[in-house]
Amino acid sequence: MRWWINLLLSIVIIVVVIPALTVQDFSLFGFDDRMPPSETDWQPRDEIDIKTKSPKSVENLEVTVYDHATKSIIKMPLEEYIVGVVAAEMPASFELEALKAQAVAARTFAIRKMRALGGSGCSSHPQADVCSLYSHCQAWISDEQQKKNWGSDYATNHEKIVRAVEETRGYIMTYKGTPIEVFFHSTSNGKTEDAGEVFSHSLPYYTVVESPGEENSPKYKQTFTFSNDQFVKIFKSRYPDSNLSAKNLSSQIKIKSYTKSGRVGELIVGGITVKGTDFRYLYGLNSTDFKFKFEGDKVIIETTGYGHGVGMSQVGANYMAQQGHTYTDILRHYYKGVDIEKYR
Ligand SMILES: [Zn+2]
Repeated sequence: MRWWINLLLSIVIIVVVIPALTVQDFSLFGFDDRMPPSETDWQPRDEIDIKTKSPKSVENLEVTVYDHATKSIIKMPLEEYIVGVVAAEMPASFELEALKAQAVAARTFAIRKMRALGGSGCSSHPQADVCSLYSHCQAWISDEQQKKNWGSDYATNHEKIVRAVEETRGYIMTYKGTPIEVFFHSTSNGKTEDAGEVFSHSLPYYTVVESPGEENSPKYKQTFTFSNDQFVKIFKSRYPDSNLSAKNLSSQIKIKSYTKSGRVGELIVGGITVKGTDFRYLYGLNSTDFKFKFEGDKVIIETTGYGHGVGMSQVGANYMAQQGHTYTDILRHYYKGVDIEKYR
């Protein structure tokens, strides 16, 4: 009757011993220490909880960066990555409170992108959470590049940026408990832009707000000059069916509408209605706040501001800091209704 004993032993192993071992394994990874999920607190996914002892702390977060300069993937602690973003995105000469606002914006952007936390990662480099291209994810430069850029000012500048990151360590912007979708730009035209005018959808925290004190910034006003022929050639490269001609150009261009912030909403060129944002990219203009001047065989386009205008203006943030505002004042001004809270 030995087979009865074998069968009994097998049943005992399958039903009792294996599950017991499995539970033991889970508790070794601290599975039981997880906080219960809450509706209002934004929590990282379980993956993180299993792998680390103190799962919700920024200390343990690592970000995978695709570096366009070296064409390689680099893994580094989140806070170290933020130093490289602030160094690349804002002049180190800016006020400390402006640098701190930039650090929080950069951290929010990264946390939202990180795949381990449920983010989508960088869409053009699927192996990375973010890439270092300012026009795709957000700019980032290595420590080596910071040394090259700053030369003898490296120590002072680096220290100042590290301080801005340290003093905001772990802080991000949330809206109703979720990290916000972050947009910022260099210089406004005196007002920020509603996200819905630039991107495919509006967001409640991106409305039009005043952004004073930017008139003296180097990118505030810029002119772009094209010969009439050049202007027509560029337009026809995109709109080949247009009847635009170099003769009497001024009579063929008309601004159709402005957005609430005074930027061009739509314009009519050679009988074709074009969005201000599309026109900006087609001609490589600094912003969608533009005016035309026609002089002989030339078209002169004068722009005000630099960038899409959505969210924090970096120059405006620096001006606010000069007026004695803190980084939380700055962020709450440019990102309406957000909470600034510690991610842990
Ligand atoms: Zn990217």
